[in-house]
Amino acid sequence: MTDSVVTRFAPSPTGFLHIGGARTALFNWLYAKKHGGKMLLRIEDTDRERSTEAAIGAILDGLKWLELGWDGEVIYQFARAARHREVAEQLLADGKAYRCYASAEELAAMREKARAEGRTRLYDGMWRDRDPATAPGDVKPTIRLRAPQTGETVIEDQVQGRVVWQNENLDDLVLLRGDGNPTYMLAVVVDDHDMGVTHVIRGDDHLINAARQKQIYDAMGWTLPSMSHIPLIHGPDGSKLSKRHGALGVDAYRAMGYLPAALRNYLVRLGWSHGDQEIFSTEEMIAAFDLASVGRAAARFDFAKLENLNGHYIRHADDQSLVKMFEDVLDHVPGRGELKAKLNDTTRAQLAKAMPALKERAKTLIELIDGAYFLFADRPLELDPKAQALLTPENRRLIGQLHSALEKVETWSGAATEAALRAFAEENSLKLGAVAQPLRAALTGRTTSPGIFEVLDVLGRQESLGRLKDQATT
Ligand code: GLU
Repeated sequence: MTDSVVTRFAPSPTGFLHIGGARTALFNWLYAKKHGGKMLLRIEDTDRERSTEAAIGAILDGLKWLELGWDGEVIYQFARAARHREVAEQLLADGKAYRCYASAEELAAMREKARAEGRTRLYDGMWRDRDPATAPGDVKPTIRLRAPQTGETVIEDQVQGRVVWQNENLDDLVLLRGDGNPTYMLAVVVDDHDMGVTHVIRGDDHLINAARQKQIYDAMGWTLPSMSHIPLIHGPDGSKLSKRHGALGVDAYRAMGYLPAALRNYLVRLGWSHGDQEIFSTEEMIAAFDLASVGRAAARFDFAKLENLNGHYIRHADDQSLVKMFEDVLDHVPGRGELKAKLNDTTRAQLAKAMPALKERAKTLIELIDGAYFLFADRPLELDPKAQALLTPENRRLIGQLHSALEKVETWSGAATEAALRAFAEENSLKLGAVAQPLRAALTGRTTSPGIFEVLDVLGRQESLGRLKDQATT
């Protein structure tokens, strides 16, 4: 047994990989990386009704996209049910668990009574010490833990501090159901133990489970892993995170054009801080991450911050990798098949050439796609309403003149077209801006675009002159 760090991410595949889950995965991943350990992945698919293959696929895809790779094979919890049963039987044999034959009606009555008396312990210990020989024949028993009835259960949580439960308030929890299926609580403990997990890092909605799980560890004589329960992510107003406020699957963030590095950077700052530092490379994040700096207050999700951070990552990404991301995101946004079909070596090269200008004004890959619209637009261009309004009859005559002026440029480049346009403006006593705007409308179909000389350069001579001709009148 080595003492190297083993963390795990243990999502239930009842839905996509949501943003809170992604942050939990990130924290586990960072902690493992920082300590030269491993992060394992366990799919908690014991809820057969609600677990789906599609959700498993979305979780694996989401983690891969976020570049949060796990170590070893994926562990599927349901496949380990026999081992969970074995542990329940062992506890039974050791007298640390017992069979409970209480009927559904009896249990309901116990619960009602406990509630009426304001007690949180719902099970009254009915079968704890009763002779199984007196058991009714028609009830399939559950196996319950013979939990301590006095004293305290204490979790020294790395984030929450020391958390204490009075044992008199905790139930003898069910380990194995009447149908022989292990409960979630048992499965988690057995799996974490068998997988050699040293650090459990998860949402604080599981804090109460930690107390129950500790009782199972104690009964088995196993060592409890280090526990860290991180506060959940709330909406910007402090309320439960709603869809509108970001409670979406990671795939939705991908489709909205966020970069994995930006999302990771955003997520790491949700509940964890390192001085005032906002931007972290992956290496910096790994080096700086620690559990002691995870706050206890709920983190608030802020779309505007995420967007700004994403803009930063886009501006600093290299052009070739942005071309790749541009291409990749097209598969995840509906209705972009046509654009995808237009990507070839020529258009990719154009895109790369335009990238320095395009990335300056895009906060997401979707905005980048939008900005690059002009590169892929077919002649004659569809003009947006503002460009349409700009191309008055007078300006269309100007476009005709500009076409003639630019036609004379033999060796096409940004600089050569700039020289020609400046000369034209001067000769006609026009300001460069008065020339550039109609030109932009005719060349891009929009009123905003990268610098006009860059546009001319990227489109090239033939396409530029063709587009001007399309809009010109004499
Ligand atoms: N499967 C649980 C969930 O998705 C996590 C359990 C755990 O981390 O212990 O919320």
